[in-house]
Formats: sequence, structure tokens, C-alpha cells
Amino acid sequence: MSKYELPCKCGNSFVIEPRQAGQSLVCDACSAAVEVPPLREIRQLRPAADSGDDRSVDNWSRRQAAMFVPALILALVCMSVIGYLGYWKSSLETSRPVLEGQEVLRRTIEKQEPAQLLEIWRSIEHYGLGERLTPAYVEDQQTAFRLNIAMAILSALTLVSLGVCTYACIGQPARPAPPGKTGKPVRQPAAKP
Ligand SMILES: [Zn+2]
Repeated sequence: MSKYELPCKCGNSFVIEPRQAGQSLVCDACSAAVEVPPLREIRQLRPAADSGDDRSVDNWSRRQAAMFVPALILALVCMSVIGYLGYWKSSLETSRPVLEGQEVLRRTIEKQEPAQLLEIWRSIEHYGLGERLTPAYVEDQQTAFRLNIAMAILSALTLVSLGVCTYACIGQPARPAPPGKTGKPVRQPAAKP
């Protein structure tokens, strides 16, 4: 944020930011109350030496970049994995398919003579129906359920990461003001009767 020099009558000067418009400051040198002018008048003041801005960049790069960069990378990785899992899920066949094999078997049985049906029954009785397999669509349903859980967890992680990114961007740490330069905001002096 750009900073400006607000002079006091005594020759001291304040370093102010536009967001301080309308505040009342007390001069460290002469104890006079100095009103910060409205925003458009602040813009006409002399810009302050940019040492403070340099330090804010330093602060950002050291403290907040340490949070921002890993959080952003984590958010991007989570979103990529969510995209991949979503693509995987879309390829699953979770609805019960019309089983072509069953249809063929039904038509075959309909055409059999009773004696042939008896023969089929005996062979099933002898050999059994075989191992019962989990149908592919049931396996896909189970996979889709696990993918939903994974995507929900990753979504929560993405939100937390983006929250940390946002905090790193807007939660600027308070910087120590250069001594004798920046005034303290004070309450408006009460009007004397
Ligand atoms: Zn002063």
C-alpha cells in the first residue's frame, strides 16, 4: 500500500496510509492533534520514502510466502487429484446392466423340451451353480463410494489450503513504525463546553 507524508505545524511529519483517512493523530514532537485529511487530499500529499514498503515486501516474502506457497501447492494438488478421481468415477458403470447372458439363457430355457430341462437341472444339481461372483456393477458402486469419500476429504483439504492462502494474503502482520514518524490514532478530543 502506498504511503504519504502528512506534515505537522511543528515540522514533524507522519507517515500515513490512505486507509487512515479521517483519523486523528497526535504528534510525538508537539503533542498537537492532527487530522488525517480525506482520501483525495491524501493522494496529493508527498509520497513517503518507500523504505516501509520495502520492508512490507520483505515481511510478505519471509512470513507469508512461507504459508502461502505450500498452501497454494497443496490446494492445486488436491484439486488435480479431485479432477482425476472425478474422471475415474465417471468411467465407472454403477447402474445394473441389462445382462445379455441372462437374456440368452432365458430364451434358451424357453426353447427346451421338458426332458432337456430335467437334464440341465440334474447337471446343476451335480456340479452346483459355481462360485458366486460379485457383479462388476456392484464392485463399481463400492469403488464410487470410496471415491466420493476421498473427494470429500480432498475438498475439505482444498478449502483449508485456500483459507490459509487467503489469510497469508490479507492477514498482514503489524509492522513496527519508524520512531518519531508515525503518530498514534487517538480518540477525538471532547468538545469543551
Ligand atoms: Zn507537531
